[in-house]
Amino acid sequence: MNEIKIFSPATVANVACGFDVLGFCLDTIGDEMTIRKVDKKGIFITKVEGFNLPTETELNVAGVSALAMYEAVNPDCGFEIEIRKNIKPGSGIGSSAASAVGSVFGMNELLGKPFNKTELTAFAIKGEALASQCEHADNLAPAIFGGFTLVKSVSPLEVLQIPVPNNLYATIIHPQIEIKTSEARAILPKQVPLQDVITQWSNFGSLIHALHTNDYPLIKRSLHDVIIEPHRSKLIPYFDDVKQAALKHGALGSGISGSGPSIFSLSEGIEKAKNVEEAMINVYSKTNIKFDTYVCKINTQGIKIIE
Ligand code: ADP
Repeated sequence: MNEIKIFSPATVANVACGFDVLGFCLDTIGDEMTIRKVDKKGIFITKVEGFNLPTETELNVAGVSALAMYEAVNPDCGFEIEIRKNIKPGSGIGSSAASAVGSVFGMNELLGKPFNKTELTAFAIKGEALASQCEHADNLAPAIFGGFTLVKSVSPLEVLQIPVPNNLYATIIHPQIEIKTSEARAILPKQVPLQDVITQWSNFGSLIHALHTNDYPLIKRSLHDVIIEPHRSKLIPYFDDVKQAALKHGALGSGISGSGPSIFSLSEGIEKAKNVEEAMINVYSKTNIKFDTYVCKINTQGIKIIE
């Protein structure tokens, strides 16, 4: 096998109370990538379609993660990477992560799978660091493992897979505004009151328990973020309106996807997820901000080969 085509999914990081450690994988929303083995040594990004992104290997996250793996293996061949981007860069649903995992997943397949999923995530972290200036895996891990993942530690990398209740659906609204990652970081407080931390880890622990036990009411009571959301939500116009509309129409919970501007909701069943989508659309169609929405099941497979 010399060529492989893959689907690299979008992901939601943070998931309300799981800032920087929890994430889940979306179905049907994602990039397509082709990875090809070539005689000439090196990593070459030969095509980027959909959005204007660099094709220089060192400036594209797919190239940087590929180089990290390439240097570790030092194979007797090179690789070409083609990216068909569907996930808008900076949307907050893991655009850069999808590219960073796509290249290493594809190369691993073509090399006969020398690396496991945790090792692939570790290479992808090098690419993701180009986009976010720090090493984190909360979008990468769900893209590679599928389902919900908890990044227990980045160094050494330890990823835990959390079970997904069968009927859990996500609704996403992506307002077409730009939030600079630097701004989303700068707005966060350096210190946090102990009482807020207690509330947050109580919610986080109970969310993980609820996912293990299919306890939808407990998911609902746990999807609250008292530390990050009160600050970052100020950067997203109509955030409170969207959240309240989603909850009113049956969502289990709602919050900022990654560092925004996308907003996610989780619902039990596709019908509720679609009602939530309609409620979100109602809020934003009264504004002059363009937006996209998506409804999908939580993707338990993660990145996959399509050809
Ligand atoms: P998201 O949360 O949607 O992934 P990020 O802010 O993390 O958004 O990443 C987007 C940044 O990464 C942009 O500055 C973009 O130019 C850069 N980038 C480099 N290569 C890629 C790529 N292949 N896909 C997406 N973004 C990329």
